[in-house]
Amino acid sequence: MEEKRMRWRGDRQSTNVEDRSGSSRRPVGKMATGGGLGVILIAVIFFFISGGDLSTVTDTLGGGITPATYETENVASKEYTEQKEFAAVVFAHLEDYWKQEFDARNETYQNPKLVLFTDSVNSACGQATSQVGPFYCPADQNVYLDLSFADELSTKYGATGDYAMAYVIAHEVGHHVQNQLGITNQLDKIRKRVSETEYNQYSVRLELQADYLAGCFSKYLAGQTYQGQPIIEEGDIEEAITAANAIGDDTLQKEYQGYVVPDSFTHGTSQQRVDWFKRGYKYGDLEHGNTFNEKKLDLATAA
Ligand SMILES: [Zn+2]
Repeated sequence: MEEKRMRWRGDRQSTNVEDRSGSSRRPVGKMATGGGLGVILIAVIFFFISGGDLSTVTDTLGGGITPATYETENVASKEYTEQKEFAAVVFAHLEDYWKQEFDARNETYQNPKLVLFTDSVNSACGQATSQVGPFYCPADQNVYLDLSFADELSTKYGATGDYAMAYVIAHEVGHHVQNQLGITNQLDKIRKRVSETEYNQYSVRLELQADYLAGCFSKYLAGQTYQGQPIIEEGDIEEAITAANAIGDDTLQKEYQGYVVPDSFTHGTSQQRVDWFKRGYKYGDLEHGNTFNEKKLDLATAA
């Protein structure tokens, strides 16, 4: 499949982005400071004068006898900068879209924040590693994202193309919208009085609704232009669908444990995720996205 590029370069970037990524993702340019060699020379000279007592040298120099002092310059790689700017542009479009939707309902939309991290991060929902994938924390209203997830999407799940990543971000912001609408809160109350298996059913509905909301956003974006050109095209939507299909619980379980346990589903099957995303893309309103009222979550068979 030919990879579609979303039109985003130069477009507005959200200012609600916090970069907490470590240097492991940002190749560091090393630059020796002026005094480097001087320190060694003094150390060597002192070593001879003091009769070989290195501890004296260390004390005298205060900072020890490290051969040279390096000043680390945080130069982000080009690839990282691109991914970050892309995410910030998608986030800005999400802000515009959800503000417009909430305005139409006479409600106030509060922007979430996008926190970029590498390896692990501290959120109000606890410490998390990149392994858990992108997530939204209702307690601090932040979307947490390790940008390397884009590579994972393409190499591990075969979901290539930039819109696959845009879908993932839109899904997480979908969770923020659910939080703003009070849905997350209602579910928290339910969680306390039902079994885990039962709660998983609610969790699936919450996840599918976030996919639906990502579909709504995609419909909106498909109608937007940047510098006279459409921002996304049909091929971009296909990329999102491929991603939704790839990260369904049944697909992941089959891949990782070789069999499927429907009771433990928390995100829905691949088919369900694709169906609800497509439904959002079709209607683009909040009214058709009540996954909690639907008896049947398989839309393809329900029509
Ligand atoms: Zn989710």
